Amino acid sequence: MELRFLGGASEIGSLGLVIRDQGRTVLCDYGMTPTDPPAYPIPAPTNVDLAVLSHAHLDHSGMTPLLSRLPKARLAATPVTLAVADLLTRDALKVARLNGYQPAYSPHDIAGLHAQAVAVERHGTFRHHGIEIEFTPAGHIPGASMMLYRGERDVLFTGDLQTHATHLVGAAEPLECDVLVMESTYAGREHPDRRETERRFRDRVAATVERGGKVIVPAFAVGRAQEVLMTLAASGFETYLDGMARAVNSVYLSAPEYLADGKRFRRALEGVHVVEHPGDRKRALREADVIVTTGGMLDGGPVLYYIGELYPDANSSIFLTGYQVEGSNGRQLMDTGTLTVDETVVRPACEVEKFDFSAHAGHTDLVQFARATRARTVVLMHGDQREALRDDLAPHADVVVPANGEAFTV
Ligand SMILES: [Zn+2]
Repeated sequence: MELRFLGGASEIGSLGLVIRDQGRTVLCDYGMTPTDPPAYPIPAPTNVDLAVLSHAHLDHSGMTPLLSRLPKARLAATPVTLAVADLLTRDALKVARLNGYQPAYSPHDIAGLHAQAVAVERHGTFRHHGIEIEFTPAGHIPGASMMLYRGERDVLFTGDLQTHATHLVGAAEPLECDVLVMESTYAGREHPDRRETERRFRDRVAATVERGGKVIVPAFAVGRAQEVLMTLAASGFETYLDGMARAVNSVYLSAPEYLADGKRFRRALEGVHVVEHPGDRKRALREADVIVTTGGMLDGGPVLYYIGELYPDANSSIFLTGYQVEGSNGRQLMDTGTLTVDETVVRPACEVEKFDFSAHAGHTDLVQFARATRARTVVLMHGDQREALRDDLAPHADVVVPANGEAFTV
Protein backbone atom coordinates (compact mmCIF):
# COMPACT_ATOMS: atom_id res chain seq x y z
CA MET A 1 0.00 0.00 0.00
CA GLU A 2 1.07 3.56 -0.65
CA LEU A 3 1.23 6.39 1.89
CA ARG A 4 1.76 10.11 1.26
CA PHE A 5 1.71 13.08 3.61
CA LEU A 6 -0.02 16.22 2.33
CA GLY A 7 1.61 18.07 5.23
CA GLY A 8 2.54 17.65 8.87
CA ALA A 9 5.21 14.99 8.36
CA SER A 10 8.19 17.07 9.44
CA GLU A 11 6.38 19.85 11.28
CA ILE A 12 3.64 20.31 13.88
CA GLY A 13 0.76 21.62 11.76
CA SER A 14 -1.21 21.06 8.53
CA LEU A 15 -1.36 17.29 8.97
CA GLY A 16 -2.82 15.07 6.25
CA LEU A 17 -2.00 11.45 5.35
CA VAL A 18 -3.34 9.71 2.24
CA ILE A 19 -3.48 5.91 2.28
CA ARG A 20 -4.00 4.18 -1.08
CA ASP A 21 -4.76 0.49 -0.77
CA GLN A 22 -6.65 -1.98 -3.01
CA GLY A 23 -8.19 0.79 -5.11
CA ARG A 24 -9.38 2.84 -2.13
CA THR A 25 -8.24 6.22 -0.94
CA VAL A 26 -8.42 7.10 2.74
CA LEU A 27 -7.44 10.49 4.19
CA CYS A 28 -6.32 10.61 7.83
CA ASP A 29 -6.73 14.16 9.25
CA TYR A 30 -6.73 17.32 7.13
CA GLY A 31 -5.40 20.25 9.12
CA MET A 32 -3.96 23.73 8.72
CA THR A 33 -1.43 25.75 10.71
CA PRO A 34 -3.16 28.65 12.50
CA THR A 35 -0.16 31.02 12.30
CA ASP A 36 -0.23 34.60 11.00
CA PRO A 37 -0.42 34.13 8.02
CA PRO A 38 -1.94 30.62 8.16
CA ALA A 39 -0.21 27.72 6.37
CA TYR A 40 -1.97 24.97 4.44
CA PRO A 41 -1.18 21.40 3.31
CA ILE A 42 -1.03 20.11 -0.27
CA PRO A 43 -4.69 19.83 -1.46
CA ALA A 44 -6.34 16.46 -0.84
CA PRO A 45 -6.88 14.22 -3.88
CA THR A 46 -10.40 14.47 -5.32
CA ASN A 47 -10.98 10.70 -5.20
CA VAL A 48 -11.00 10.41 -1.38
CA ASP A 49 -13.52 7.71 -0.41
CA LEU A 50 -13.27 8.22 3.32
CA ALA A 51 -11.68 10.77 5.62
CA VAL A 52 -11.11 10.06 9.30
CA LEU A 53 -10.42 12.75 11.85
CA SER A 54 -8.37 11.92 14.95
CA HIS A 55 -9.35 15.01 16.96
CA ALA A 56 -10.55 18.58 16.73
CA HIS A 57 -7.34 20.68 17.04
CA LEU A 58 -6.98 22.83 13.91
CA ASP A 59 -3.61 21.35 12.90
CA HIS A 60 -5.59 18.12 12.33
CA SER A 61 -9.09 19.35 11.43
CA GLY A 62 -8.68 22.84 9.95
CA MET A 63 -9.12 21.88 6.27
CA THR A 64 -11.93 19.31 6.68
CA PRO A 65 -14.67 21.78 5.55
CA LEU A 66 -13.16 21.48 2.04
CA LEU A 67 -14.22 17.82 1.98
CA SER A 68 -17.78 19.09 1.48
CA ARG A 69 -16.70 19.81 -2.11
CA LEU A 70 -16.08 16.05 -2.59
CA PRO A 71 -19.66 14.85 -2.19
CA LYS A 72 -18.74 11.15 -2.38
CA ALA A 73 -16.37 11.37 0.58
CA ARG A 74 -17.48 10.58 4.12
CA LEU A 75 -15.88 12.06 7.25
CA ALA A 76 -15.79 9.76 10.28
CA ALA A 77 -14.92 10.97 13.80
CA THR A 78 -16.22 10.74 17.34
CA PRO A 79 -19.24 12.96 18.09
CA VAL A 80 -17.14 15.08 20.47
CA THR A 81 -14.50 15.64 17.77
CA LEU A 82 -17.15 16.60 15.20
CA ALA A 83 -18.81 19.10 17.57
CA VAL A 84 -15.55 20.77 18.68
CA ALA A 85 -14.09 20.80 15.13
CA ASP A 86 -17.24 22.65 14.06
CA LEU A 87 -16.57 25.33 16.73
CA LEU A 88 -12.88 25.62 15.80
CA THR A 89 -13.34 25.80 12.02
CA ARG A 90 -15.99 28.52 12.44
CA ASP A 91 -13.62 30.41 14.72
CA ALA A 92 -10.76 30.03 12.19
CA LEU A 93 -12.98 31.70 9.57
CA LYS A 94 -13.56 34.61 11.94
CA VAL A 95 -9.82 34.92 12.70
CA ALA A 96 -8.96 34.86 8.96
CA ARG A 97 -11.38 37.71 8.32
CA LEU A 98 -10.12 39.73 11.32
CA ASN A 99 -6.50 39.34 10.15
CA GLY A 100 -7.38 40.17 6.53
CA TYR A 101 -6.70 36.74 4.95
CA GLN A 102 -8.77 35.00 2.33
CA PRO A 103 -10.33 32.06 4.24
CA ALA A 104 -9.61 28.59 2.80
CA TYR A 105 -13.34 27.72 2.92
CA SER A 106 -16.74 29.28 3.52
CA PRO A 107 -19.45 28.90 6.20
CA HIS A 108 -21.35 27.07 3.46
CA ASP A 109 -18.57 24.42 3.34
CA ILE A 110 -18.74 23.95 7.13
CA ALA A 111 -22.50 23.50 6.98
CA GLY A 112 -22.19 21.18 3.96
CA LEU A 113 -19.79 18.90 5.80
CA HIS A 114 -22.54 17.96 8.27
CA ALA A 115 -24.30 15.90 5.59
CA GLN A 116 -21.15 13.84 5.04
CA ALA A 117 -20.06 13.45 8.66
CA VAL A 118 -20.58 10.14 10.42
CA ALA A 119 -20.23 9.92 14.21
CA VAL A 120 -18.33 6.85 15.41
CA GLU A 121 -18.35 6.12 19.12
CA ARG A 122 -15.12 5.49 21.01
CA HIS A 123 -14.07 1.85 20.49
CA GLY A 124 -16.42 1.81 17.46
CA THR A 125 -15.73 0.30 14.04
CA PHE A 126 -16.64 2.15 10.88
CA ARG A 127 -17.24 0.39 7.54
CA HIS A 128 -17.63 2.17 4.23
CA HIS A 129 -17.25 0.73 0.69
CA GLY A 130 -15.30 -2.26 1.98
CA ILE A 131 -13.04 -0.10 4.17
CA GLU A 132 -12.90 -1.01 7.85
CA ILE A 133 -11.53 1.33 10.51
CA GLU A 134 -11.47 0.76 14.24
CA PHE A 135 -11.51 3.79 16.57
CA THR A 136 -9.79 3.65 19.94
CA PRO A 137 -9.05 6.46 22.48
CA ALA A 138 -5.74 8.32 22.05
CA GLY A 139 -5.66 10.16 25.41
CA HIS A 140 -4.62 13.72 24.44
CA ILE A 141 -8.05 15.47 24.65
CA PRO A 142 -11.65 14.23 25.02
CA GLY A 143 -12.83 12.53 21.83
CA ALA A 144 -9.29 12.07 20.44
CA SER A 145 -8.94 8.72 18.68
CA MET A 146 -6.35 6.55 17.09
CA MET A 147 -7.55 4.82 13.94
CA LEU A 148 -6.69 1.23 13.00
CA TYR A 149 -7.12 0.78 9.26
CA ARG A 150 -7.63 -2.87 8.34
CA GLY A 151 -6.34 -3.55 4.82
CA GLU A 152 -3.53 -5.35 3.05
CA ARG A 153 -1.60 -4.45 6.19
CA ASP A 154 -3.09 -3.10 9.42
CA VAL A 155 -2.12 0.55 9.86
CA LEU A 156 -2.50 2.34 13.21
CA PHE A 157 -2.62 6.15 12.85
CA THR A 158 -2.15 7.74 16.27
CA GLY A 159 -3.16 11.35 15.66
CA ASP A 160 -1.89 13.10 18.81
CA LEU A 161 -1.10 10.70 21.60
CA GLN A 162 -0.94 10.77 25.41
CA THR A 163 0.05 7.56 27.19
CA HIS A 164 -0.47 8.90 30.71
CA ALA A 165 -3.87 9.59 32.25
CA THR A 166 -4.58 13.25 33.00
CA HIS A 167 -7.40 14.83 35.02
CA LEU A 168 -9.42 15.17 31.83
CA VAL A 169 -8.86 11.94 29.87
CA GLY A 170 -7.58 8.40 30.33
CA ALA A 171 -4.38 7.08 28.75
CA ALA A 172 -4.04 5.62 25.24
CA GLU A 173 -3.51 1.87 25.11
CA PRO A 174 -1.31 0.40 22.35
CA LEU A 175 -2.95 -1.82 19.70
CA GLU A 176 -1.04 -4.44 17.72
CA CYS A 177 -0.55 -3.46 14.08
CA ASP A 178 1.73 -4.02 11.07
CA VAL A 179 2.43 -0.37 10.37
CA LEU A 180 2.41 2.32 13.05
CA VAL A 181 2.08 5.95 11.94
CA MET A 182 3.05 7.80 15.11
CA GLU A 183 3.18 11.45 16.15
CA SER A 184 6.62 12.67 17.27
CA THR A 185 5.95 16.06 18.86
CA TYR A 186 8.20 15.32 21.85
CA ALA A 187 10.84 13.21 20.07
CA GLY A 188 14.09 13.74 21.96
CA ARG A 189 12.36 15.46 24.90
CA GLU A 190 10.83 14.26 28.16
CA HIS A 191 8.19 15.88 30.35
CA PRO A 192 8.78 16.75 33.99
CA ASP A 193 6.69 14.77 36.48
CA ARG A 194 3.08 15.98 36.08
CA ARG A 195 2.08 15.77 39.74
CA GLU A 196 5.18 17.82 40.65
CA THR A 197 4.31 20.41 37.98
CA GLU A 198 0.75 20.67 39.29
CA ARG A 199 1.98 21.13 42.86
CA ARG A 200 4.39 23.86 41.79
CA PHE A 201 1.63 25.52 39.73
CA ARG A 202 -0.76 25.64 42.69
CA ASP A 203 2.04 26.85 45.00
CA ARG A 204 2.96 29.69 42.62
CA VAL A 205 -0.73 30.68 42.28
CA ALA A 206 -1.00 30.75 46.10
CA ALA A 207 2.15 32.87 46.39
CA THR A 208 0.76 35.40 43.88
CA VAL A 209 -2.59 35.61 45.67
CA GLU A 210 -0.90 35.99 49.07
CA ARG A 211 1.06 39.03 47.90
CA GLY A 212 -2.15 40.63 46.58
CA GLY A 213 -1.74 39.82 42.90
CA LYS A 214 -3.83 38.01 40.29
CA VAL A 215 -2.83 35.16 38.00
CA ILE A 216 -3.58 35.16 34.29
CA VAL A 217 -3.44 31.65 32.84
CA PRO A 218 -3.46 31.79 29.03
CA ALA A 219 -4.75 28.39 27.89
CA PHE A 220 -5.88 26.76 24.65
CA ALA A 221 -9.67 26.44 24.55
CA VAL A 222 -9.70 22.74 23.72
CA GLY A 223 -8.27 20.49 26.41
CA ARG A 224 -5.76 22.76 28.15
CA ALA A 225 -8.19 25.21 29.77
CA GLN A 226 -10.21 22.29 31.16
CA GLU A 227 -7.10 20.49 32.46
CA VAL A 228 -6.01 23.68 34.25
CA LEU A 229 -9.49 24.15 35.79
CA MET A 230 -9.43 20.58 37.09
CA THR A 231 -5.94 21.12 38.50
CA LEU A 232 -7.22 24.19 40.40
CA ALA A 233 -10.47 22.55 41.55
CA ALA A 234 -10.90 22.38 45.32
CA SER A 235 -7.89 24.62 45.97
CA GLY A 236 -10.19 27.49 47.00
CA PHE A 237 -9.05 30.19 44.56
CA GLU A 238 -11.64 32.54 43.00
CA THR A 239 -11.33 31.30 39.42
CA TYR A 240 -12.78 33.00 36.33
CA LEU A 241 -13.00 31.51 32.84
CA ASP A 242 -13.16 33.56 29.65
CA GLY A 243 -13.04 32.78 25.90
CA MET A 244 -13.99 29.86 23.68
CA ALA A 245 -13.31 27.24 26.36
CA ARG A 246 -16.84 28.00 27.62
CA ALA A 247 -18.42 26.52 24.48
CA VAL A 248 -16.03 23.55 24.56
CA ASN A 249 -17.06 22.88 28.17
CA SER A 250 -20.68 22.53 27.05
CA VAL A 251 -19.68 19.86 24.52
CA TYR A 252 -17.68 17.95 27.16
CA LEU A 253 -20.49 18.20 29.73
CA SER A 254 -22.87 16.67 27.20
CA ALA A 255 -20.57 13.67 26.60
CA PRO A 256 -19.21 12.63 30.02
CA GLU A 257 -18.32 9.16 28.71
CA TYR A 258 -15.43 10.81 26.83
CA LEU A 259 -13.91 12.17 30.05
CA ALA A 260 -11.84 10.37 32.68
CA ASP A 261 -14.45 11.38 35.26
CA GLY A 262 -17.47 13.33 34.04
CA LYS A 263 -18.77 13.98 37.54
CA ARG A 264 -15.46 15.40 38.71
CA PHE A 265 -15.33 17.65 35.62
CA ARG A 266 -18.83 18.94 36.34
CA ARG A 267 -17.93 19.59 39.99
CA ALA A 268 -14.73 21.42 38.97
CA LEU A 269 -16.77 23.75 36.73
CA GLU A 270 -19.34 24.44 39.45
CA GLY A 271 -16.74 26.43 41.35
CA VAL A 272 -15.72 28.51 38.30
CA HIS A 273 -17.15 31.96 37.46
CA VAL A 274 -17.84 32.24 33.76
CA VAL A 275 -17.35 35.58 32.00
CA GLU A 276 -20.51 35.74 29.88
CA HIS A 277 -20.20 39.27 28.45
CA PRO A 278 -17.28 41.61 27.83
CA GLY A 279 -18.83 43.78 30.59
CA ASP A 280 -18.07 41.01 33.13
CA ARG A 281 -14.34 41.40 32.50
CA LYS A 282 -14.00 44.34 34.87
CA ARG A 283 -15.63 42.27 37.60
CA ALA A 284 -13.24 39.40 36.86
CA LEU A 285 -10.30 41.80 37.22
CA ARG A 286 -11.65 43.04 40.54
CA GLU A 287 -12.62 39.75 42.14
CA ALA A 288 -10.59 36.94 40.61
CA ASP A 289 -7.53 35.24 42.03
CA VAL A 290 -7.05 33.34 38.77
CA ILE A 291 -8.30 34.11 35.25
CA VAL A 292 -8.09 31.19 32.80
CA THR A 293 -8.55 32.52 29.30
CA THR A 294 -7.83 32.11 25.59
CA GLY A 295 -5.68 32.62 23.52
CA GLY A 296 -3.01 30.32 24.78
CA MET A 297 -0.20 32.04 22.82
CA LEU A 298 -1.27 35.63 23.63
CA ASP A 299 -1.98 36.43 19.97
CA GLY A 300 -5.66 37.24 20.33
CA GLY A 301 -8.77 36.72 22.43
CA PRO A 302 -9.70 38.10 25.87
CA VAL A 303 -6.26 37.29 27.33
CA LEU A 304 -4.95 40.50 25.73
CA TYR A 305 -7.44 42.61 27.68
CA TYR A 306 -6.41 41.08 31.01
CA ILE A 307 -2.71 41.31 30.23
CA GLY A 308 -3.12 44.92 29.14
CA GLU A 309 -4.50 45.69 32.61
CA LEU A 310 -2.17 43.58 34.75
CA TYR A 311 1.28 43.50 33.10
CA PRO A 312 2.58 46.56 35.02
CA ASP A 313 1.61 44.98 38.37
CA ALA A 314 4.66 43.35 40.01
CA ASN A 315 2.39 41.38 42.37
CA SER A 316 0.53 39.63 39.53
CA SER A 317 1.62 36.69 37.35
CA ILE A 318 1.26 35.28 33.85
CA PHE A 319 1.54 31.49 33.91
CA LEU A 320 1.85 29.99 30.42
CA THR A 321 0.53 26.45 30.09
CA GLY A 322 1.09 25.49 26.48
CA TYR A 323 3.40 25.30 23.52
CA GLN A 324 4.38 28.77 22.24
CA VAL A 325 4.94 28.62 18.49
CA GLU A 326 7.79 30.58 16.85
CA GLY A 327 6.59 34.10 16.03
CA SER A 328 3.81 34.16 18.65
CA ASN A 329 3.49 36.82 21.35
CA GLY A 330 3.91 34.09 23.99
CA ARG A 331 7.20 32.95 22.44
CA GLN A 332 8.38 36.58 22.39
CA LEU A 333 7.58 36.76 26.11
CA MET A 334 9.57 33.61 26.86
CA ASP A 335 12.55 34.50 24.66
CA THR A 336 12.91 38.24 25.30
CA GLY A 337 10.77 39.03 28.36
CA THR A 338 8.73 41.48 26.28
CA LEU A 339 5.15 41.45 25.02
CA THR A 340 3.28 43.27 22.30
CA VAL A 341 0.19 44.94 23.81
CA ASP A 342 -1.90 47.22 21.57
CA GLU A 343 0.92 47.27 18.99
CA THR A 344 3.40 48.51 21.60
CA VAL A 345 6.29 46.38 22.89
CA VAL A 346 6.27 46.38 26.70
CA ARG A 347 8.30 44.67 29.42
CA PRO A 348 5.86 43.21 31.98
CA ALA A 349 6.61 43.87 35.64
CA CYS A 350 4.56 40.84 36.66
CA GLU A 351 6.00 37.37 37.21
CA VAL A 352 6.15 35.12 34.12
CA GLU A 353 6.56 31.39 34.29
CA LYS A 354 5.82 28.39 32.04
CA PHE A 355 4.34 25.11 33.24
CA ASP A 356 4.39 21.88 31.20
CA PHE A 357 0.76 20.71 30.97
CA SER A 358 1.42 18.99 27.65
CA ALA A 359 -1.16 16.51 26.33
CA HIS A 360 1.48 14.64 24.28
CA ALA A 361 3.54 11.56 25.13
CA GLY A 362 7.23 12.24 25.89
CA HIS A 363 10.14 10.54 24.11
CA THR A 364 10.39 7.44 26.32
CA ASP A 365 6.58 7.05 26.31
CA LEU A 366 6.62 7.07 22.50
CA VAL A 367 9.38 4.44 22.35
CA GLN A 368 7.49 2.18 24.77
CA PHE A 369 4.21 2.67 22.93
CA ALA A 370 5.75 1.85 19.54
CA ARG A 371 7.38 -1.31 20.86
CA ALA A 372 4.12 -2.46 22.51
CA THR A 373 2.28 -2.28 19.15
CA ARG A 374 4.82 -4.82 17.73
CA ALA A 375 4.72 -2.88 14.45
CA ARG A 376 7.36 -4.03 11.93
CA THR A 377 7.21 -0.63 10.24
CA VAL A 378 7.04 2.67 12.12
CA VAL A 379 6.33 5.88 10.19
CA LEU A 380 7.22 9.03 12.14
CA MET A 381 5.18 12.19 11.59
CA HIS A 382 4.16 15.43 13.33
CA GLY A 383 7.61 16.32 14.67
CA ASP A 384 10.63 18.46 13.91
CA GLN A 385 13.17 16.21 15.69
CA ARG A 386 12.09 12.79 14.44
CA GLU A 387 15.67 11.51 14.08
CA ALA A 388 15.97 11.15 17.86
CA LEU A 389 13.09 8.65 17.82
CA ARG A 390 14.34 6.88 14.71
CA ASP A 391 17.59 6.03 16.46
CA ASP A 392 15.79 4.47 19.45
CA LEU A 393 13.24 2.55 17.36
CA ALA A 394 15.53 1.30 14.57
CA PRO A 395 16.71 -1.85 16.41
CA HIS A 396 13.10 -3.08 16.60
CA ALA A 397 11.40 -1.91 13.38
CA ASP A 398 11.91 -0.41 9.93
CA VAL A 399 11.59 3.28 10.65
CA VAL A 400 10.40 5.65 7.91
CA VAL A 401 10.94 9.41 8.27
CA PRO A 402 9.04 10.74 5.25
CA ALA A 403 8.99 14.23 3.75
CA ASN A 404 5.76 16.05 2.88
CA GLY A 405 4.49 15.17 -0.60
CA GLU A 406 6.72 12.09 -0.98
CA ALA A 407 4.84 8.82 -1.72
CA PHE A 408 6.25 5.66 -0.14
CA THR A 409 5.14 2.06 0.10
CA VAL A 410 4.82 0.03 3.28
ZN1 LIG B 1 -3.82 17.92 19.25
